[in-house]
Amino acid sequence: MRFDPLSPVDELCGASGPGHNGRMSEFVRHLAGTCAVVLDSPHSGTAYPQDFGHACDPQLLRRAEDTHVDRLYSFAPELGVHWVEALFPRSYLDANRGLTEIDESLLDAPWPGERPRSQAELAKVRLGKGLIWRLTDDGLPLYQRRLSVAEVQRRIAQCWQPYHEAVARSIDAAHTAHGYVLHINCHSMPSVAASHATDHPGLAHPDFVVGNRDHSTSSQALADWLCDQLRGSGHEVWLNHPYKGVELVRRYGQPAEHRHSLQLEINRRLYMDEQTLQPHAGFERLQGVLRDLVERLVALDPRGL
Ligand SMILES: [Zn+2]
Repeated sequence: MRFDPLSPVDELCGASGPGHNGRMSEFVRHLAGTCAVVLDSPHSGTAYPQDFGHACDPQLLRRAEDTHVDRLYSFAPELGVHWVEALFPRSYLDANRGLTEIDESLLDAPWPGERPRSQAELAKVRLGKGLIWRLTDDGLPLYQRRLSVAEVQRRIAQCWQPYHEAVARSIDAAHTAHGYVLHINCHSMPSVAASHATDHPGLAHPDFVVGNRDHSTSSQALADWLCDQLRGSGHEVWLNHPYKGVELVRRYGQPAEHRHSLQLEINRRLYMDEQTLQPHAGFERLQGVLRDLVERLVALDPRGL
């Protein structure tokens, strides 16, 4: 396996090979699967678009990535798992946000679309972490300019729309074929929360955090099952703290219809040096743990839990 974090997009797209009927674009990699498991990685993209126009140090932007999460799960398509991956970076557009989470202070004109409807929807915008980020995790501004409305709309059309279409299509296909779907929204987290990253700055994270928005996006039984599997491999796992899951589980999880969506955060210290972003010796062991977990998930019927 190669670990070059800046592999060109063409190579990533070309790596899928024949036999998958998913769709790929310059911005999203989508491999349709055959089983009831859907994995998506919204934050591991490293293809920084030419029109980004940011003003801050690129290395700071790279710390916002869930670096290597795509590669940790590289075994998934061969198990028949549906796979969706953002190739664009999270700091360009955060696919794990709703379209109303617009930070108007970034724009050179009023936003013509929907505005946040509640304080909860404003929470991420206040942190500088709306659909388009204003601040890095360390609280530094990303831009020294205002963004045009057209520019933001273009990012939505090129990144958010195809990403969510791919996730929705895979979830519907899995549900149609099997009568249920097990969707894992895949992330990684720093070992310690940065000053502007979350509502819990300075918090030392456990090995894994499972989130299902307080049992509203998956059954509690499935969340407990997932935690137990990971604890069984010797890891510390927290449930719904400090991460409950955001837009990608909120939007697709409907446990009453056997559509289960959970967020899984992996502590980056398990697999990489957080300063250099290079994978370390723990990468392969962690990948083995994840493969074992996903194989068990593929064999699981959540209606029997
Ligand atoms: Zn993430």
